[in-house]
Amino acid sequence: MQTLRFGDKGLFVQYLQTALLRAGEEPGEIDGIFGRRTENALMRFQDARGIRADGIADRLTWASLYPYFVGSTFRANGAGEPVAVPLDPGVVFTDLPYSSFLTACVLEGLTLRYPFLAKFPIGRSVSGRRIEAIRIGAGALRVGINAAHHANEWITTPLTLLFLERYAKALSENGAIGGVSARTLYERSTLTLVPLVNPDGVDLVTGALSEGDSFYESARALSAFYPGIPFPSGWKANISGVDLNLGYPAGWENARAIKFAQGFTRPGPRDYVGTRPLEAPEDRAVYDLTNRERFDRALAYHTQGGEIYWEYRGYAPQGSYALAQRFAAASGYAVANVPYDSGFAGYKDWVIDALRANAFTVEAGRGTNPLPLSDLESLYAENEGIFAAALTP
Ligand SMILES: [Zn+2]
Repeated sequence: MQTLRFGDKGLFVQYLQTALLRAGEEPGEIDGIFGRRTENALMRFQDARGIRADGIADRLTWASLYPYFVGSTFRANGAGEPVAVPLDPGVVFTDLPYSSFLTACVLEGLTLRYPFLAKFPIGRSVSGRRIEAIRIGAGALRVGINAAHHANEWITTPLTLLFLERYAKALSENGAIGGVSARTLYERSTLTLVPLVNPDGVDLVTGALSEGDSFYESARALSAFYPGIPFPSGWKANISGVDLNLGYPAGWENARAIKFAQGFTRPGPRDYVGTRPLEAPEDRAVYDLTNRERFDRALAYHTQGGEIYWEYRGYAPQGSYALAQRFAAASGYAVANVPYDSGFAGYKDWVIDALRANAFTVEAGRGTNPLPLSDLESLYAENEGIFAAALTP
């Protein structure tokens, strides 16, 4: 973690302020600006924990703040083993921009609170960030959901994590989710969620990478060749400038021809297909997971447009259209045909083509990417029924 002190600005200052607030201190407005109130709050926090109260967030201070990121603290039980004690009502942050750091904290927090969840690494990003999957369920229907192939669509990360948390909570309380008994979903399906396919790209868009960082600077240099696309808010690709939803081996040559004709001939913020299918380690990780798991159904979450894509080259496995209609009925989104120019080399395309499984792209919400966090609850309300329907045989 970065060492932060008075005068610093940015996403990690916002994280620091949020953790201090959760710890019962008063850091002032959660504005990402490390001013005197934040400094005083940090000194009080340090003093209360026997850390040198210098108002500087160093490694030791971040470690002491960790419980407020995972939403649990620890105490020893009678046998001297650590037991997680919940601190906050929820684990998934709904008021902070996401990053690889925050996502890892949430996944850790969810598995601490709900021991029937299992998380596991599926690969690493270009910069070496771990890409993780998390699983819930014991049923025969195998469902894969992934989010944030596209960096500036990162709101799909908290969107899918919120579903997982509310499903897990409903299960532990014998409740319902999306109008269905959580126990029934659990017994009939197994959900494997990859909430953050593109950690580096999301870190770039939300400010977890900042000026001076070598990955930030190399991305900025790539974006200079695409002056019409705002930087970093228009960034969809991985940190090498490969569009991860154009990297799958399904009509990749067609995607290449289309995107090159549109001028996307070199790495950049979006629409560059790379030099070969599965060039990006992030795509390779999701591809390998999908091949191992042989999902019956797969949903790739994107924003925006309020549409559900369900076929590839005019083909869809049996049941796809009916499922798409159920999703549409639950969300108010439209069942739509993919525009020809976007009809190749996506995750859904490859799953349909190679696995002959029901696969969908959900373009959640409406507006301009990145959608604001203030849209998260309404997005959730639209999509809860899709998630529940996806887990229902
Ligand atoms: Zn997208």
